[in-house]
Amino acid sequence: ATPTALMVGVARAAQLGILVKGPEVLEATRAVDTVVLDKTGTVTTGRMEVTGTTSFTGARDVLRWAGAVEAASEHPIGVAIAAACDDPPPVTGFEALIGAGARGEVGGAPVAVGSAELMARLDLPVPASATAWLSGLGAATGVLVARDGEVVGGIALRDTVRPSARDAVARLHSLGLRTVLLTGDHEVAAHAVGAEIGVGEVIANVRPADKVAAVERLRAQGRHVAMVGDGINDGPALAAADLGMAVAHGSDIAAQAADVVLVRDDLGAIADTVVLAGRTLATIR
Ligand code: ADP
Ligand code: MG
Repeated sequence: ATPTALMVGVARAAQLGILVKGPEVLEATRAVDTVVLDKTGTVTTGRMEVTGTTSFTGARDVLRWAGAVEAASEHPIGVAIAAACDDPPPVTGFEALIGAGARGEVGGAPVAVGSAELMARLDLPVPASATAWLSGLGAATGVLVARDGEVVGGIALRDTVRPSARDAVARLHSLGLRTVLLTGDHEVAAHAVGAEIGVGEVIANVRPADKVAAVERLRAQGRHVAMVGDGINDGPALAAADLGMAVAHGSDIAAQAADVVLVRDDLGAIADTVVLAGRTLATIR
């Protein structure tokens, strides 16, 4: 086994827009048989757009309240909601609830924006109208808005699946790898995106801590897992995987936690990494 061949592999990867953090990473890559893909910001562009707002109580300021809270948010959902709100009132006590939502005080009242899961965690009852609205969204993402202890409305957002995602998944399958879509988003949106890209398996409604557990469960089944992610909330799962891969334009935390950074903005780089590792190690043996 020559270190030189491994270094050549790392250099070749760099030419393909794949930053491999060390020669040993190629060895880990060769063993991978399962690729877990985060949805938002990894399989999708993460550049979201608000497509609609609904009120469950007749409240008219749903978007204003949410926009106020999200003004300081860095999450793609928060950025889109803030962008859709022209003249947000000031917010105090902003807090990002990683993988769940955001909250703050607007006009003296607590406002929370996020998943149904978050509302449950905050002990806020989710009305049947909200559950029905969420399940009717199809591939769109929906978040709920609560003010002063009551779920008052919802905001629908659209995200775009990366053009490279479907081919990238097909290539991984043709290399004999299994694929899993892992997301904190709700089942309906997760399965719609999963079908669009042809992924093998979908795991939805997963909180950030549970992303790690999902990766560990696959590893406990004897699978060698590559986890591909973009977000702050993906850091622990990237670290827990046999191989952590961060996509281009992801957060610094994901890039730091990863073994491989896909600098090239094309999900085909996942399969390229696997192929390159195989070739590099074949040369050595
Ligand atoms: P993914 O796992 O698809 O990358 P995240 O873990 O970042 O998604 O978020 C999971 C869910 O938490 C989102 O689908 C959304 O419902 C909610 N969420 C997270 N951050 C925010 C935010 N800033 N505003 C509203 N909702 C949010
Ligand atoms: Mg993400």
